[in-house]
Amino acid sequence: MLIKNFFISLSQNQLLNSLAKKYGTKLGARTIIAGTNIEEMIQSVKELNHHGISATVDNLGEFVFVKKEAIEAKKQIIRVIEAIYNNNADAHISLKPTQLGLDINYDFCLNNLKEIVEVASNYNIFINFDMEDNSHLQSSFDLIDELSNEYNNIGTVIQAYFFQSEDNIKKYKNYRLRIVKGAYKEPENIAYQDKKDIDRNFIQLIEYHLLNGKYTSIATHDHHIINHVKKFVKENNITKEKFEFQMLYGFRKDLQLQLASEGFHFCTYVPFGSDWYGYFMRRLVERPENINLIFRQAFNKRTNILIGIGVGAILLGRHSKKSK
Ligand SMILES: Cc1cc2nc3c(=O)[nH]c(=O)nc-3n(C[C@H](O)[C@H](O)[C@H](O)COP(=O)(O)OP(=O)(O)OC[C@H]3O[C@@H](n4cnc5c(N)ncnc54)[C@H](O)[C@@H]3O)c2cc1C
Repeated sequence: MLIKNFFISLSQNQLLNSLAKKYGTKLGARTIIAGTNIEEMIQSVKELNHHGISATVDNLGEFVFVKKEAIEAKKQIIRVIEAIYNNNADAHISLKPTQLGLDINYDFCLNNLKEIVEVASNYNIFINFDMEDNSHLQSSFDLIDELSNEYNNIGTVIQAYFFQSEDNIKKYKNYRLRIVKGAYKEPENIAYQDKKDIDRNFIQLIEYHLLNGKYTSIATHDHHIINHVKKFVKENNITKEKFEFQMLYGFRKDLQLQLASEGFHFCTYVPFGSDWYGYFMRRLVERPENINLIFRQAFNKRTNILIGIGVGAILLGRHSKKSK
C-alpha cells in the first residue's frame, strides 16, 4: 500500500511528467508505448493485425486544462481515425474525455467529441470512451447519453471497483462495454478497496454482460479471471463472436498471442505519443513489478523498483539543481 501511494503521488507530479516526456523513450518507454507518432503506431497495429489481434488506439494525454491543447488532441485523434481507415488497419479508438476538455467546459468537450464521433461514424470506426476517476464518472456517462441520441458507434468502460457499477452495467447493457477492475485510487465510501471484493464484482459484471448485454471486452492481465471466463462461456454456450479479451500493449505478450491463437477475439490497447507518464505510473500502481518492463530495455538486465525510484529521484534532483 505504501508503494502504491508513493506511485500515485509520483503520477501527479507535473515536473516528473515533463521529464518523462523528454527522456522517456531513452529510458525504454517504447516497450509499452507503440511509438511517438502516427506512422510508428500504424506499424505497431499492423504487426498485431498480422497475428490476428485487433487494436484500440489511444492518443496519449489526459487532464487537459488548456483549450488549445484539447483542440490539438481532437485534431490528432481525427488524423488517427483517417490513418486507421487509409491503412485498412483492424483498429478502433479509445479516448479520454479529460483530454478533450471535460475539465474546461462540458459543452466544449461535447462538441469536440461530436466532431470525432461524426468522422469515425463516417468511416464505420468504433469509439470507446475510457473511464477515468470518480470525479469525471457522471459527466462521462452524460456525454455518452447525449451522443447516443445521434450516434451508435460508441461504447464505454465499467470499473468493477465502484459500488454503482452494478447499476451501470444494467443501464448500459445495450452498449459495447469494456469491463475492467479500475485503475484510479478511489475513496472507500464509493469503491471496493479489497482485491477479493473487486475480483468478485469484476466476475459478476462480466457474467452479467456476457449473458444479457451487447459485445463484451474483458480487459485484464489476470489469468485467473481469463480462465474463469473461458470456463463460463463454454458452460453457457456463449459464442466467441459475443466477446473479446483485451490487454495493454507490451504486457503479457505471450498470453496475448496464445489467446488469439486459441481462436478468441483479442484486442490490444495501443497507446502512442509522448504523454505517457500518467499512463505508465498507473501501471506501476497496479503492479510495481511492471517497472521491469520499461527499465529492462534501458539497462539490458533485470532491475527492480528501487532503480525506478532512483532514476526518478536523480532526474528530479538534476532538474531542481538546473532551475535553482
Ligand atoms: C485494455 C485495458 C483497458 C483499460 N481501460 C481502463 C479504463 O478505461 N479505466 C480504468 O480505470 N482502468 C482501465 N484499465 C486498467 C484496469 O482497470 C486495471 O487497473 C488493470 O488492468 C490491472 O488489473 P488486471 O485486471 O490487469 O490485473 P491485476 O489485478 O493487476 O493483477 C492480477 C494478477 O494477474 C497477474 N498479472 C497481472 N499483470 C501481469 C503481468 N504484466 N505479467 C504477469 N502477470 C500479471 C498477476 O498474477 C496478478 O497478481 C484497462 C486495462 C486494460 C487491460
